[in-house]
Amino acid sequence: MGTDNDRVFDIEFMVRDLEGKISEYPEEHLNSLPTWKTFELSETLAELGDKLKMLTRRASIPHSGWMPEIGQSNQSGCRVAHRAEEKAVRRGLALVSLCGADCYPFYGRDSEKKILTHPKCGTCERLLDDQLTGTTHAPTSAAG
Ligand SMILES: [Zn+2]
Repeated sequence: MGTDNDRVFDIEFMVRDLEGKISEYPEEHLNSLPTWKTFELSETLAELGDKLKMLTRRASIPHSGWMPEIGQSNQSGCRVAHRAEEKAVRRGLALVSLCGADCYPFYGRDSEKKILTHPKCGTCERLLDDQLTGTTHAPTSAAG
């Protein structure tokens, strides 16, 4: 078990090694590579994939529970921040927020509190508030 820095170094090393190996193959011969060459490449790629998965596992919801949404940021680089629960549902690589927006945990544990630079989603704030106060949105009776 290595640290994340070790893993990043390993990955960088593997990618550079792959670049070197692949650049040795003239493009016109890529379709006729010897079997052992393609086996070697596929083994290396599988190992690289495992290392990348190890790194992404550490991606988790910041302590604040707020994450920037996926998509285009505005000109100043701001995205809307949405609230995600600790056990948020995943949709592909994204985590689904309270309001249903897809978010990536860009900031990991967000020790630098970068999420505070993004405006909070009003819908998520309302839903979170409802959760905390136990309010439900059951339709109120019009009778009386
Ligand atoms: Zn939201």
